Amino acid sequence: MSNETIIQIEDLHIEFPTPQGVVHAVGGINLEIKKGQIYGIVGESGCGKTVTGKAILQLVPPPGKIRGGQILFYGEDLVQKSEKEMQKLRGRKIAMVFQDPAAALNPLFTIGDQLMGIMIHHEIAEGDDLQYRAVEIMEDLGLPRPKDLLNVYPHQLSGGMQQRVMIAMALSAKPDLIIADEPTSALDVTIQSQLLDLLDRLRNELGITIILITHDLGVVSEICDELSTFYRGRIVEQGSVREIFQHTKHPYTKGLLGAVPNPQYLGQELKVIPGSVPINLEPIQGCCFASRCEYVMDGCRQSDPPFVALNEDHLTACYLYEEGISKGD
Ligand code: SF4
Repeated sequence: MSNETIIQIEDLHIEFPTPQGVVHAVGGINLEIKKGQIYGIVGESGCGKTVTGKAILQLVPPPGKIRGGQILFYGEDLVQKSEKEMQKLRGRKIAMVFQDPAAALNPLFTIGDQLMGIMIHHEIAEGDDLQYRAVEIMEDLGLPRPKDLLNVYPHQLSGGMQQRVMIAMALSAKPDLIIADEPTSALDVTIQSQLLDLLDRLRNELGITIILITHDLGVVSEICDELSTFYRGRIVEQGSVREIFQHTKHPYTKGLLGAVPNPQYLGQELKVIPGSVPINLEPIQGCCFASRCEYVMDGCRQSDPPFVALNEDHLTACYLYEEGISKGD
């Protein structure tokens, strides 16, 4: 892993106007991702994970809008780029793998047409070289009988194969960054594990940076280097995976971890975080997790807890902790 920063997000705000009012989907997040990292973005549905991934590609679904902040890609602000400039970057420099490959693949075209179409669009290959490159990518990803796959339609493939084809497409233009949005959630455990191995191999062998968006901290523990826990469009805990898993601090991250099945506690009920993620129709007053937190104190509802560094690898936003000091675990 290099020391070069590939993505730096600064004070990002994303809003969605709705008939009920403006939803503040992302409210001022900051994060930095180094080249060659696998970076986990973790949280329940509705916490702002996916829309942050889409914002990097300027694909926030309308009427949603980026209302403030910067997304620096190798130091250049993507928020300021025109649609034409973004079209050159999408797929070529930054690619996205979506949660549901069946919906992302075009059912009317063969896998070969779709894969080679991307290479033509990005001027990666032409003529006879197209087929050669398409087969080569699928071979590299361990897809069986890649030549035959060129003539197959998406519906003829299993979910795991479709997801690997999506990754082949994402890789076809040799991007620097892949954003993978819940890539394993529709897959059974064995295929899930194969896919995680594949992502790890892409990082190790090709040096590709991967942002892994997931609700599953088990997945993060397997392959990510660093993580940010998202809640209500904020980041509540951030740092190295090793540090956060060994010394989990924020009550929300603790709650997510408690919901991960663990063979050590076989036969015991999994813990759940009571309630659900509220919609941010009003500006959040105090701590964003106060309505569901079992440790909530009077002061928590008064003002937003600051993001404090517990050590160089670990930050959290919770009044139970102060800079370099923890009051309780
Ligand atoms: Fe819970 Fe208070 Fe910490 Fe928020 S600041 S997570 S409400 S203890």
